[in-house]
Amino acid sequence: MSTDPAALPLERKAALLSGHDFWSTEPVAEIPSVVLTDGPHGVRRQAGDFDTIGLHRNLPSTCFPPAVAVASSWDASVAERVGTAIGVEARALGVHVVLGPGVNIKRSPLCGRNFEYYSEDPLLAGVLGAAHVRGQQAQGVGASVKHFAANNQETDRMRVSADVDERTLREIYLPAFERVVTEARPATVMCAYNKVNGVYASQNRWLLTELLREEWGFEGVVVSDWGAVDDRVAALAAGLDLQMPGDRGAGDRRVVEAVRAGELDEAYVDASARRVAALAGLGTGPGDGFDVEAHHALARELALGCAVLLRNERGTLPLARDTRVAVVGEFARTPRFQGGGSSNVHATRVDAALDAVRALAGAPVPFAPGFPLDGPGDAAALREEAVALARDAEVAVVFAALGEAEESEGFDRESLDLPAVQVELIRAVAAVAPRTVVVLSHGGVVSLEGWHDEVDAVLDGFLLGQGGGAALADLLYGVVSPSGHLAETIPLRLGDVPSSVDFPGEQGHVRYGEGVLVGYRGFTTLDRPVRYAFGHGLTYTTVETTDLQAVGTGDDTATVSVTVANTGNRAVRHVVQLYVGTTAGPVRRPARELRAFTKVALEPGERRTVTLDLDRRAFAYWDTREGAWVVAPGEYTVQVGASAVDVLAEAPLTLAGDDLVPALTLESAVGEWLTHPVVGPVVAERFPVWLPHLPPPATSEGHLVLQTLGSMPMRRFVSDLGATVPAGELEGLVARAAAARAERVG
Ligand code: BGC
Repeated sequence: MSTDPAALPLERKAALLSGHDFWSTEPVAEIPSVVLTDGPHGVRRQAGDFDTIGLHRNLPSTCFPPAVAVASSWDASVAERVGTAIGVEARALGVHVVLGPGVNIKRSPLCGRNFEYYSEDPLLAGVLGAAHVRGQQAQGVGASVKHFAANNQETDRMRVSADVDERTLREIYLPAFERVVTEARPATVMCAYNKVNGVYASQNRWLLTELLREEWGFEGVVVSDWGAVDDRVAALAAGLDLQMPGDRGAGDRRVVEAVRAGELDEAYVDASARRVAALAGLGTGPGDGFDVEAHHALARELALGCAVLLRNERGTLPLARDTRVAVVGEFARTPRFQGGGSSNVHATRVDAALDAVRALAGAPVPFAPGFPLDGPGDAAALREEAVALARDAEVAVVFAALGEAEESEGFDRESLDLPAVQVELIRAVAAVAPRTVVVLSHGGVVSLEGWHDEVDAVLDGFLLGQGGGAALADLLYGVVSPSGHLAETIPLRLGDVPSSVDFPGEQGHVRYGEGVLVGYRGFTTLDRPVRYAFGHGLTYTTVETTDLQAVGTGDDTATVSVTVANTGNRAVRHVVQLYVGTTAGPVRRPARELRAFTKVALEPGERRTVTLDLDRRAFAYWDTREGAWVVAPGEYTVQVGASAVDVLAEAPLTLAGDDLVPALTLESAVGEWLTHPVVGPVVAERFPVWLPHLPPPATSEGHLVLQTLGSMPMRRFVSDLGATVPAGELEGLVARAAAARAERVG
């Protein structure tokens, strides 16, 4: 491009800053229009003119496993391959930017959009999100990591204020974005609809400029979620470059007026226009089409690594080819494989598990729908028919799911339960069948209570994309061993979920009162039992974990090695989960936090030693006083877990951590003065001189006095207790502390 967009007339460059229509930017001078469409697990390219939201008229594309399933794979290569294939399809369909991935944290299992997000854990979400972006952008197609930030519910999503303290934002809600931005450099970041601490994300300068650009070095385009801009001028000044969709130039006119009136510096227009113009350098289509069959096969292959085997009593799974199986449940024939809303892909084709089971089974497989899919139907008669089949089978496989109407973008669920007709069916089948297997499809976590103990096995597919039906059949028959692990906790009761007292908020605010204790961090720290823990997942072989070693590689880093051996007789892809826990430091830490993971292929009998590096951030907490990440000196425990609850081995680690000199003022508490590493010893020595009428701090009486009065600010302490402190002495100590602090920081 030869023209600097900033050199264009004001009206022309302002026109770059909002959509031409629903899905493309305005072409200006020789800067071409750029097409941005959904995402994240397939390309939703509206057919025909880009003038409406086009939810139901889209060109066919492959529906890959949605994020909820990708997360359960715990496998960055799955995310990367999804991204790559989406990039290929986007080019073929003439799309420059695909709107995804979504890396919002699952604060509550009720969020209607959890199927589109990865996990309750920021490391898992960030690693997978970054891999997806890498794959997609390697094809020359831009990504849009979304929804930045704290968009963790659908209820009132256009207005609600997510009220979150900074430590919680930094440790839980922002790291996935930070990792994607710093490691994978997405072309765009999409701001959220909601407010963050009272300020719309779309006009939140701290988020969009100070954090995203100045701290994390983001150089791409900040695009609004569709319709997220409230005040266009404030949004531009805060760092929002591109308003989508277009509002027929209304926002651009306000920008022009504000510049002319001297209310907005034209430099904001110039900077944003340059960034939007740079998007035109992305891969352009239409390409040569894409291989529909190969991408379907890929969707199926990737789904195999995502489903989670939750329970498998009496070796019920895998099924033998000659087992007499009855399949029950409409979802075996009519799969639920993706979520509703803006991400809904017009799939090129969809595999039904029933067909795939029949293809694998050595004997005829009878089927009964078991319950009506929509509307009332005759549930009792359908159930009876299914029960009769189950009675005659050796194993009954029940396909249960949440229907499309039960969860979607746009609203949150109110309960974790499966529909009652399905629970009744599961129980009725389990009462008569010699063995019962339940296969689940759903986007948000469902409760297993009321039927779990009555069935032999549970295979949880979440939403597996268009190849999921065939993948489930392969897993049931052991063509491949399950290797998925939960990326979110399955609670016993909704009320046990740490966020449940304040979800989805009230009167325009949702208070993130549980702080950092989100998901498994809350369950483990508060010692609350769960049905299945984050990280849980069974398979058809056995893996032994031995020789865990953690070695410090500096003041605040370590390297960890552990040996895993496949002691069974089936190949598996095994996940190594590494957690870190500590009580060091001045803030309350979760019992343990996932700090590294990897998935390794193990043939029967194979043994491998896995080495994982733990960087500084693996040990750090966000210190609000320092306004920085801090590694507290002290003892840490490195743990390998089969889940966040089931610790297999642990190793101690001592870290020197950060040698901090805390800030000290006359407002600091007496206790803080006494424990200050630089001036503390001086203060202890001077105390008997300043306060001769008090027992010295070293005595037990003195200790008691300080316990009682230690929280008094020093200024009030000396005046109220009549201390005889020579003029300037305290100020001198403050200066000494400040000098030592400057020296350490510098
Ligand atoms: C969603 C975004 C999506 C956009 C465009 C919004 O309602 O929140 O995730 O990319 O619509 O469809």
